[in-house]
Amino acid sequence: MSVGKDVVTYLAENEWLNENAKRWGTKIGARAITAGTTLTELIPVIQKLNYAGVRTSIVYLGDGLYEKAGALEVKEQYIQLIHLIQEKALDATITLQLTQLGLDIDFEFCYENVKEIVAEAYAYDVQVTIEMEDYGHVQPSFRMLEQLKEAYDNVGTVIQAYFYRAEEDIKKYKDVPIRLVKGAYDEPISVAYQTKEEIHDNYKKLLLEQLQNGIFTSIATHDRDIIEEVKRFVQEQEIPFDAFEFQLLYGFDEELQEQLVGEGYPCSVYVPYGEEWYSYFMNRLAERPQNITKKVFNKKTN
Ligand code: FAD
Repeated sequence: MSVGKDVVTYLAENEWLNENAKRWGTKIGARAITAGTTLTELIPVIQKLNYAGVRTSIVYLGDGLYEKAGALEVKEQYIQLIHLIQEKALDATITLQLTQLGLDIDFEFCYENVKEIVAEAYAYDVQVTIEMEDYGHVQPSFRMLEQLKEAYDNVGTVIQAYFYRAEEDIKKYKDVPIRLVKGAYDEPISVAYQTKEEIHDNYKKLLLEQLQNGIFTSIATHDRDIIEEVKRFVQEQEIPFDAFEFQLLYGFDEELQEQLVGEGYPCSVYVPYGEEWYSYFMNRLAERPQNITKKVFNKKTN
């Protein structure tokens, strides 16, 4: 089964569909790749993953993009989540999407929201990752990271290997934990590599350099070629297992997840939950339709 990427991206961005999807609930299959819409639904999913030897990084899919009230709700949700992580002794970090916390509304407003979350996480010993979105948001996101890391040492970020600037950024932010990804947005040739091969090669190059630098790195890819190369490399170079983790998207590749855990590698899963699951679901569908169609049609989700 194949689904055109442009069509799916259009559906992901369609406001009417996004709004109505909330009413339909998550039964159409999003449940296979998100942990429900509430904290009550999320917690058992995290406990089950932890029990299986998998760490987690939790992201709340909330609607704070254009309204201050929405961004404040997203902030409150994260504060509650941090408290629950401690109360339930979960092996979990949190991931923040800055546009949900008001980045497009006002930088200072967003910074205040993010700072409050990071400070609470710091007090509760929870690690925070600042997610990277499309190119237009990259520079303000790094600016926010710079401000935050002056006061807190529990903040890391994401480097997207498809950007030409990634090599400089990864050197510049060598004092914070890094999640290395290929990059998920459609970006122009003026700023990003375009072919799978170029992106794959740049990812591998940056990753192997980064692993030798001893900075904690989340290797966020499902690409088996890269994963196998990393396994060889860490053995050869005697890279300690507390310097990295493999990181996968929740529900995408459980076989790989079990294999990594079985082999004794540190493995983490990025777990999204929340009301705004629709565009996350559709964007993942656009990226690799077989991931979703296999889950939706071969597995009972609810
Ligand atoms: P792909 O390039 O999609 O696939 C490469 C090869 O891997 C495929 O040809 C196939 O052989 C194999 N493969 C892939 N998936 C599977 C599967 N399920 N089963 C079997 N084989 C498979 N992007 C951002 O722009 N910003 C972010 O902040 C961000 N955070 C992320 C966090 C995590 C934890 C992860 C995993 C991804 C994140 N991404 C983010 C998305 C990322 O940029 C890529 O778009 C996405 O991961 C797809 O690239 P890939 O490296 O996983 O593999």
